[in-house]
Amino acid sequence: MKKRIFTYLLILCTALFCLGGCAEKSREGDNGPAPSPERKGVSTSNTGFFFDTVVTLRLYDARDGLMDEIMSACGRYEALLSKTVEGSDVWRINHADGQPVQVSEETWQILQSAKHFYEISDGAFSITLAPVIALWGFTDGSERMPTDEERLTALALVDDSQLKLEGDRMVSLPAGMSIDLGGIAKGYIADKIAEMSEGNVSGAVLNFGGNVYVVGLKPDGSEYRIGIRDPQGTENDSKAILTVHDTSVVTSGIYERYFIKDGVWYHHILDPKTGMPAENELMSATIVSKSSMEADAMATICIVLGAERAQEILKAQGFDAVLLTKDNQSIVTDAFPYQIHFVQ
Ligand code: AMP
Ligand code: MG
Repeated sequence: MKKRIFTYLLILCTALFCLGGCAEKSREGDNGPAPSPERKGVSTSNTGFFFDTVVTLRLYDARDGLMDEIMSACGRYEALLSKTVEGSDVWRINHADGQPVQVSEETWQILQSAKHFYEISDGAFSITLAPVIALWGFTDGSERMPTDEERLTALALVDDSQLKLEGDRMVSLPAGMSIDLGGIAKGYIADKIAEMSEGNVSGAVLNFGGNVYVVGLKPDGSEYRIGIRDPQGTENDSKAILTVHDTSVVTSGIYERYFIKDGVWYHHILDPKTGMPAENELMSATIVSKSSMEADAMATICIVLGAERAQEILKAQGFDAVLLTKDNQSIVTDAFPYQIHFVQ
């Protein structure tokens, strides 16, 4: 847990560090940021622990009370979406024993999106992977390698097509199955907090453990510089710097949560076909998108599919991304519209 918190803090520090000293770049073909309060340079920041992640928020020239509203919204989302909070929408779905459950509009939207990404990824993105995820213990810190028998038994409970979304936000799942929104919920929350900020700040950097959303501009009127971690380096080394405004930058990496056993690296992004950590040439996938939720799901999908299929799906779905490989290659999608500067 300590290692994880440290990692998140470092990702954030990289993002915040990059806030200084960057010249504004042209934003051709773009209408620029939404109107926002006058830029006075008053900065407020806050840190919390939500969604099993360190959340760090920095707001510039925020309207009075906005930070408190955002922090309580984070608490509300956690109470709705956490698998472990008794009475949350996800908890109720997982404990309904096959009975339909009515969920909130927020949960409904995430579930619909999760279904969409399950379908377009041919099952690489799967929220019903929860029983297998639980076996590996990456989320509760009880990390261990399941036996083949445990893994195969849990895999039999994985099938997102069995998750039924019916009229009036009714959700049902066969008894024994369960869902985990860890691969998509933070993106949804980042989008919602960004929406709350727009028009109420001159700028903001919202970091939900690797799902970063930047709103508006920095106090000096320039864009934000967001570092993409170098997976081969230490936690505060950047492989590349993106210059962006009003967008989300989401990275999934196999170094985020892992353990090493008998010299083998086991990480937290699992291949739903095998129940094992995805094994291919990719170390990280960074998606830049106005929708942090979509970027979140796509980043996870890329890691599961590997470089070649990831590039195909990114192209087919129209996402801009940077993929970093184990042999130190950087793959940038065609016609990448953001300024990217490779370090070294
Ligand atoms: P991310 O860091 O966004 O890629 O999300 C990783 C988290 O998503 C894990 O900690 C699991 O909770 C969950 N997860 C792991 N593998 C998958 C998968 N193939 N599809 C959907 N969610 C997954
Ligand atoms: Mg994800």
